[in-house]
Amino acid sequence: MTHKLPSACLLSTGEEVLRGEIFDANNHFLANILGEHGFEVQMMLTAGDRRDGLLFVMDTALQRADYLFMSGGLGPTEDDLTTSVAAELADRELLFDEPSWDAIVTLFRTFNREPGDNNKKQAMLPEGAEILANARGTAPGFCLTFERHGAMKTIVALPGPPRELHPMIGDWLGGKGYKAIPPEEHLFLRFIGIGESNLAEALEPWTEQWGEVSFRQDFPEMEVKLYQPATDKRRSLCEFAVKHLGQFLTTFTTQAVPELFSEFMCSQGSTLALAESCTGGLAAKIVTDTAHASEYFLGSIVSYATTAKVDLLGVSSESLKEEGTVSASTAEQMALGARDKLHADLALSFTGTAGPDGGTSENPVGTIWMAKSDAQGCQSKKLSLPPDRERVRTAAVYHGMHWLMQDWLKERCSSFKD
Ligand code: ATP
Ligand code: MG
Repeated sequence: MTHKLPSACLLSTGEEVLRGEIFDANNHFLANILGEHGFEVQMMLTAGDRRDGLLFVMDTALQRADYLFMSGGLGPTEDDLTTSVAAELADRELLFDEPSWDAIVTLFRTFNREPGDNNKKQAMLPEGAEILANARGTAPGFCLTFERHGAMKTIVALPGPPRELHPMIGDWLGGKGYKAIPPEEHLFLRFIGIGESNLAEALEPWTEQWGEVSFRQDFPEMEVKLYQPATDKRRSLCEFAVKHLGQFLTTFTTQAVPELFSEFMCSQGSTLALAESCTGGLAAKIVTDTAHASEYFLGSIVSYATTAKVDLLGVSSESLKEEGTVSASTAEQMALGARDKLHADLALSFTGTAGPDGGTSENPVGTIWMAKSDAQGCQSKKLSLPPDRERVRTAAVYHGMHWLMQDWLKERCSSFKD
């Protein structure tokens, strides 16, 4: 059975938001939480504190959607206009709400203060509105349903401060019986080593037949999401991705590469050592950012200078001179050295040019050599990444992790059952 999702427009208010002086966190937060609870968010809007502008934007939003979720403008000052404009649109009187006034007085008294006369304005609410209690601030919110543009419309007005708004929207959703859609009802596919446009192109045969997917870059990975797909759709996309994009595909879950890597290492029961040059310890940081690293991670030897590569890892000075620091040979000797010094089962090394300077025609900025060493032998691989220092370093680490667990990931994705 399909049913229409309730549609919503979001409106943040306030001159400071409109002028870009504060980051609009409220629309962003509301879009997320309402999407998770099954609303179809159609527009996000921002308006200043002027009556005519506010009236126009609120009415436009109500032409489009069943619900208008607003933030800000519930305070005691002259420029707080949300309540009076909502009452005007709904053709309702503003009435003094005794319980809201009591809550305001109580809140002031907890700070040993008395509310001013202008705070009385915050207890003036549109006739027939459902009052939304604000446990963290003086301004109550409200929910007002009325007929407009030939249909029933609802305004949900919330205060501007995010710490007040967050619990209030949660309470409202819970009170109305809206439940969060469990994440496993959606289908996620994550990829590494392929950009958005190539991915979109590669998925075209699938999207032409089955419909839309949404793309999100989560650098250096890409996430594709299918909202609540039917089983046949879900299965078809999974099979398509394994068959045509297997080398880039990492998972059918929301897990990022470091999280998958931790699972991989724990499942192998082997220990890991790192040897880092251009990544400067970032690989060790990313490995240890995820829980359970102590089960497999022994340590990292950060050998930035040539002398450190020789002294700490036993890289040969001759080969460094002949092949250069950014080379397959250096990467391999670094991996062998780290595995040996730290007595690890498996070692991974990185040496490269992260930039902004130091690139050559042979090794432009973004060139990374990585090597892996285990009981079976030592192999190296070259990466050519877009030249941005921070991104080169992060992407190198993710690609290294992906390289080590590639066979395991393929197996895991192929045996995925819906
Ligand atoms: P108050 O009673 O505090 O005046 P209010 O409901 O009238 O609340 P505003 O005056 O619009 O809300 O905003 C109060 C404060 O809330 C702002 O100064 C700002 O710090 C924060 N705020 C408002 N709108 C947003 C937004 N869209 N994103 C993030 N913070 C916001
Ligand atoms: Mg205000």
